Amino acid sequence: MKTATDVLVIGTGVAGCAAALAAARDGAEVTVATRAREVTESNTFYAQGGIVARPPGDTPELLTADIVRAGDGLCDPEAVGLLAREGPDLVRDLLIDELRVPFDREGADFHWTLEGAHSMPRVLHVKDETGAPIERALIDACRREKNVGWLVGTTAVDLLTLSHDSLDPTDRYDPPTVVGAQLLERQTGEVRPLLARETILATGGLGQVYLHTTNPQGARGDGIAMARRAGARLLNLEFIQFHPTALVHPKGRLLLTEALRGEGARITDAAGNPFLDKVHPDAELAPRDVVARAIHQRMLERDEPYALLDISHKPAEWIRERFPGLTHRCLEYGFDLTSGPIPVVPAAHYSCGGVSVDFDGATTLGHLRAAGEVSCTGVHGANRLASTSLLEGLLWGWRSGRAAVRAIRAEPLRRRVEVRPWQPEFEPVDPALIAQDWLVVRHTMWNYVGLLRSEKRLDRAGRILGELRDEIENFYRRGTMSDELVGLRNGIQTALAIHRAASDNRVSRGSHYRENGIEAVPTPKRKRATLL
Ligand SMILES: Cc1cc2nc3c(=O)[nH]c(=O)nc-3n(C[C@H](O)[C@H](O)[C@H](O)COP(=O)(O)OP(=O)(O)OC[C@H]3O[C@@H](n4cnc5c(N)ncnc54)[C@H](O)[C@@H]3O)c2cc1C
Repeated sequence: MKTATDVLVIGTGVAGCAAALAAARDGAEVTVATRAREVTESNTFYAQGGIVARPPGDTPELLTADIVRAGDGLCDPEAVGLLAREGPDLVRDLLIDELRVPFDREGADFHWTLEGAHSMPRVLHVKDETGAPIERALIDACRREKNVGWLVGTTAVDLLTLSHDSLDPTDRYDPPTVVGAQLLERQTGEVRPLLARETILATGGLGQVYLHTTNPQGARGDGIAMARRAGARLLNLEFIQFHPTALVHPKGRLLLTEALRGEGARITDAAGNPFLDKVHPDAELAPRDVVARAIHQRMLERDEPYALLDISHKPAEWIRERFPGLTHRCLEYGFDLTSGPIPVVPAAHYSCGGVSVDFDGATTLGHLRAAGEVSCTGVHGANRLASTSLLEGLLWGWRSGRAAVRAIRAEPLRRRVEVRPWQPEFEPVDPALIAQDWLVVRHTMWNYVGLLRSEKRLDRAGRILGELRDEIENFYRRGTMSDELVGLRNGIQTALAIHRAASDNRVSRGSHYRENGIEAVPTPKRKRATLL
């Protein structure tokens, strides 16, 4: 493994790929690391609905207005304006004109989809599996760049900062400066430092800290925890979007689009009793967070493990034609949408908050940038408008990559720093400990820091999570380094960061709901800083 690079990009989803591509094209030597054993494995790969672009008749001002409305008063209007102006242009130039992502067409134009809370159809999609072709196209584009090196199956363990123990203690940087990361090669268990002049975190989301999530295994908040340990500022982590309906099956949870309810799917409890009409006049078509909370509450009250979603009153042929991908995937898991009700739960879906960044992805630490779901640009405020996250990851990834190269050019080569390889050799960690601790994290977060947050629940969660953190730190110091142990440590620290943000904010707004909380007052138009 090499020991130094110009730009280290951690993560290969939409944000990491865009960052790597931009930095490589501007002439930097780039190293890309992903913990996944398959380079495309990421939240990006599983994105279904689509990506916002600019259809005829749309304007940046119209898109801005929709995003700001969804964000419930907490969006940073300048960040939203930037996304609305530059994002759709980048989709056109890079994804459509250059990489030829096969977005669905209708006649001579694209097929523009209308999604919830958008004022016009402006979402491009590839059937109902849009993320995979975007991810493959970006990975292929990066592979064509000769100055991109790949570390697949390599987990970033920690960021290296100039205040780090193993670095020259005479260096004093304010704010702390990041000079790369400790990387764990999963195959061999070796941990080695990789020095970088610029480091870009693109590690994605954190859904796995919850019992139910639409996110794949790797979304455990690694980047949030690493940035926090290095001293970066985190923002708005209480705003976790929960999707109302995910299919319950033994391998995980499968996102079931809201279009199902839009097309007449009914929700009942596990015994078949409807209940949403008692909660909201629009019943199944009530806002996403209202439906998600009502299902959660009903499951708790009845001690039931799921609710039921039923669209089988529609003709089978129509269902297969309207929802081809979903019908197919449900069948793979043994459920037939056309023949009866299927079990569903609400599920953690998207983190609106993250590592605080500026328009070029710069964090509060020197030479560390962040892009994509791990970051908080201020675009989403308290709630995210559908199909804007791929767009945000693409744009901020791209801008971060370009800004990293500009920063390298502007600053003379820093003094050579030496970092010792770190090879702790201690006893292996019992996998039962890791499995059990994850259960505790996920249940605690789900029940106490999930859809309904009360003071009592948050207090209990704080005690449980705090004790668990101390215990994990103990065996983290003694245990053999593994991706599983790194992930558990990061998961608990990220859970605590969400807990802290949720406890500090007593105002129910957007995707953060406090029982007996203070109602939101008309909007302060700036993003609110939760310093963690
Ligand atoms: C089921 C589903 C459907 C969705 N549908 C849509 C949609 O239709 N439209 C939309 O805009 N958004 C959608 N989203 C949200 C969107 O997919 C994500 O927000 C976005 O893809 C995040 O991109 P990212 O590059 O930030 O992270 P990811 O795509 O998650 O990539 C993270 C990368 O970081 C790597 N990584 C993580 N930790 C480490 C570590 N410690 N060391 C090394 N590598 C690490 C991972 O292996 C991965 O390569 C959906 C999400 C899900 C789960």
